[in-house]
Amino acid sequence: MNDPIEITLAKNKKPKRDPNQLTFGTYFTDHMFMMDYTPENGWHQPRIVPYAPITLDPAAVVFHYGQAVFEGMKAYRTKDDRVLLFRPEKNMKRINLSNERLSIPPVDEAFLVEAIKKLVTIEKDWVPKEPGTSLYIRPFIIGTEPYLGVHPSRTYMFMVILCPVGAYYPEGINPVKIYVESKYVRAVNGGTGHTKTSGNYAASFKAQEEAQRQGCAQVLWLDGVEKAYVEEVGSMNVFFKINGEVVTPALNGSILAGVTRDSVIQLLKNWGIPVTERKISMEEVYQAHAAGTLEEAFGTGTAAVISPIGGLIWKDTEMTINEGKAGALSMKLYDTITGVQNGEIDDPFGWTVE
Ligand code: PMP
Repeated sequence: MNDPIEITLAKNKKPKRDPNQLTFGTYFTDHMFMMDYTPENGWHQPRIVPYAPITLDPAAVVFHYGQAVFEGMKAYRTKDDRVLLFRPEKNMKRINLSNERLSIPPVDEAFLVEAIKKLVTIEKDWVPKEPGTSLYIRPFIIGTEPYLGVHPSRTYMFMVILCPVGAYYPEGINPVKIYVESKYVRAVNGGTGHTKTSGNYAASFKAQEEAQRQGCAQVLWLDGVEKAYVEEVGSMNVFFKINGEVVTPALNGSILAGVTRDSVIQLLKNWGIPVTERKISMEEVYQAHAAGTLEEAFGTGTAAVISPIGGLIWKDTEMTINEGKAGALSMKLYDTITGVQNGEIDDPFGWTVE
């Protein structure tokens, strides 16, 4: 991509929200990034423009066949007023992985990291200061061609929108109860589970509703064939600490390769804590719990960073983990990753970008 980014600044700025009242994904900043794709010109006309609704033909492919991918990342303000991104190159790499699976033309990863930096710089005042807050960054691509034939769109739109978000744990880390889903599945090998495509999420709502009916915060997804092996929890990757060893499901084609998951694995290796990526069955988790060796369980993702699991409901059994409290390892991982993101502790891996 050689086109320069055209910038049109908003004439009227929106009022900022009370940083203590921020909710997720409801209030957006003054500007957004856009670029278009046509077969003739490739990705072109990158631009930063005032945030506004867009117009699409009702026949656009995205509305009918769900040809859409997205990413989720955050910008964090440090105490000395710098703004940091966390491993943004991983998100742009992953959007291309999703693109490849959804027959969407690839984007220029390095260019888009720069475009996101430019957009966040323009919106710097929107990055909240209060502990735990951040600016959520949502890049996404949609198929825009008005054509009802079941074919990939010939035209696309890439956009980035931003919203300030409040602390995930305003009252301190709180372990969640999880419902192990034995009927619906999220993904199968050969499908789209390893990508961030919209349909994966639409298909997950039903199970999420059931989990909530059971008094649980999230669903634990099992594999789509035997419904025996653990895959993910809600929109997070999942880890178990069993008898001193940390295990997480191996990336098998139906699991999303989380940026936080990768960071946790690197940290654990660095700390000399044994960590294994392998198949793990729900029966094994159950047996470990029965034997008293299931020490901790936690989800990992951009939203919560670490989400300790205090209990699991599987069929008719309820397992309480670590007396329903956040484990020491979960807390250490949380403190380390959020510390790096906020620039409060050393970044030995070079994960942050100003
Ligand atoms: N799995 C799914 C299905 C997700 O949507 C997410 C959130 N992107 C994750 C795992 C965690 O990924 P990350 O650590 O990159 O946020």
